[in-house]
Amino acid sequence: MTTSDSGASSDFIRARVAEDLRTNKWGGRVVTRFPPEPNGYLHIGHAKSICLNFGIAQENEGGVCHLRFDDTNPCTEEIEYVDSIKEDVRWLGFDWGEHEYYASDYFEQLYEWAVELVKKGKAYVCDLDAEAFKEYRGTITLPGTNCPSRDRSVEENLDLFERMRAGEFEEGEYVLRAKIDMASPNMLMRDPVMYRILKASHHRTGDKWCIYPMYDFTHGQSDSIEKITHSICTLEFEVHRPLYDWYCEALGIYHPQQIEFARLNLTHTALSKRKLIDLVEGGYVTGWDDPRMPTISGLRRRGYTPEAIRDFCGRIGVAKADSTNEIEMLEHCLREDLNKRAARVMGVLNPLRVVIENYPEDQVEEMDAVNNPEDPAAGTRKLPFSRVLYIEREDFMEDPPRKFYRLSPGREVRLRYAYFVRCVDVVKDENGEVVELHCTYDPETRGGNTPPDGRKVKATLHWVSAPHAKEVEARLFGHLFKDKRPGANGTDWLASCDPDSRQVLPKCYVEPSVANAKAGDRFQFERKGYFCVDRDSTDEKLVFNRTLSLRDTWARVQRSEKRKGR
Ligand code: ATP
Ligand code: MG
Repeated sequence: MTTSDSGASSDFIRARVAEDLRTNKWGGRVVTRFPPEPNGYLHIGHAKSICLNFGIAQENEGGVCHLRFDDTNPCTEEIEYVDSIKEDVRWLGFDWGEHEYYASDYFEQLYEWAVELVKKGKAYVCDLDAEAFKEYRGTITLPGTNCPSRDRSVEENLDLFERMRAGEFEEGEYVLRAKIDMASPNMLMRDPVMYRILKASHHRTGDKWCIYPMYDFTHGQSDSIEKITHSICTLEFEVHRPLYDWYCEALGIYHPQQIEFARLNLTHTALSKRKLIDLVEGGYVTGWDDPRMPTISGLRRRGYTPEAIRDFCGRIGVAKADSTNEIEMLEHCLREDLNKRAARVMGVLNPLRVVIENYPEDQVEEMDAVNNPEDPAAGTRKLPFSRVLYIEREDFMEDPPRKFYRLSPGREVRLRYAYFVRCVDVVKDENGEVVELHCTYDPETRGGNTPPDGRKVKATLHWVSAPHAKEVEARLFGHLFKDKRPGANGTDWLASCDPDSRQVLPKCYVEPSVANAKAGDRFQFERKGYFCVDRDSTDEKLVFNRTLSLRDTWARVQRSEKRKGR
């Protein structure tokens, strides 16, 4: 991977790493980690963190990035999520080698450390119920007060903690707390809970444990065990840093540096696993990999490339202040990448039948078509042309307004790679709807070339030969949320979810060269956008997802007309 590809433009975190290398703070080592909790699928926000952590490891000689599953909550975690996370990180183009870790593998060590803090008089077993716990804790403006359990003897604490582990108590009866400072202005330092009783099976440790460590009592220690140098996380963990440091200090163990950066926010979507779960469970989307989802699996199914996502993560940079990026920027990165790599083909989404009256009944010609103007090495292909074609319904208007240059009665246009055709007749059904056009073609324009008389046309249309075309389904997508910032200013974020953001066109036609495409293959349907083959495709019928539209000049004209009030 090139440096710019991984977003190596310097930022304050990379500057810090470079400074630490200069001062030899970590003995020349750079060890980062990506620590997902396996309670959902990864989303584009996680990609930012993945590119940052794996990127920094790649850019520094001998650098390593660990993949660590932060699996301390048995109630919400599943093996399905572990597998999907691994698949997504790999697909994004990163490799953790042998460095795959699980916080649950540290449970025994964490327990011993907890016992050590009890012995040092720095932790105690507390029996307050939830309500009293809250009361003693105080508020942001009121300091908390020490609870009676705080003065329990070390022996009693050791005995109770051991019995908590042995399963003698019910959930909520006791917790183990760190003895820090009930009056600290940082609420997290007011004797935080280290362990709670949870009689739940864990996806890796089974029923071995009925007490589980809290995130804060796990994360820093896991970093410590793995000898992480830079523990990079999002801003909401800034207030946790004193606690992270306190545990490392109190235990006298290897102490990594936590560094916080601003999480990615993106317009017209939601980036929180909780919200994504709500979308899936509420049936707002077809699943975690619905092509409208901001999940890595959704983006992949939509037709995103890992290169485009990495490019985006590099371009947005890493900052210390919260901000929101435009989803159009992500789309722009993808358009740039697909423009270079996607094979051009003809695909008609809303077919309108065209009969070329003066073209011989049984004749079929093979037209030469360029596969990718951006990549001469992609070569050319043969495109069959015959008397009956399909063109895009919206490329014809019986009564064209100003600036509509495409087909209309009496007007001539170019069929790309084929001929100039002129519309000579319009066939309608009993409802007055146009069902077929009759055209004539000019044999002197073969290949779509200007005729000897120098006649010009203003539009070039895409088309497919009806007897050769393959019928396919196309799925078009809009933004999942109508609002730029769903849920902002106290609005209901789910109410902004747009049920019309998925549109299915069951009867589209593509040129025959596409017939053997496989799930994941990407194309540009000329003039209609980038498409990729969906995994719902069968031998009988291909299903295409529209990844992105091309910028539509007519839509732009319409918009500017509207602005001018015409
Ligand atoms: P969510 O808020 O979506 O539930 P999370 O932070 O709970 O996400 P984790 O599995 O704990 O999810 O996250 C793993 C790593 O990814 C963490 O280091 C976290 O800081 C980072 N991360 C999560 N969301 C974002 C985001 N939007 N932008 C950048 N990094 C993120
Ligand atoms: Mg989390």
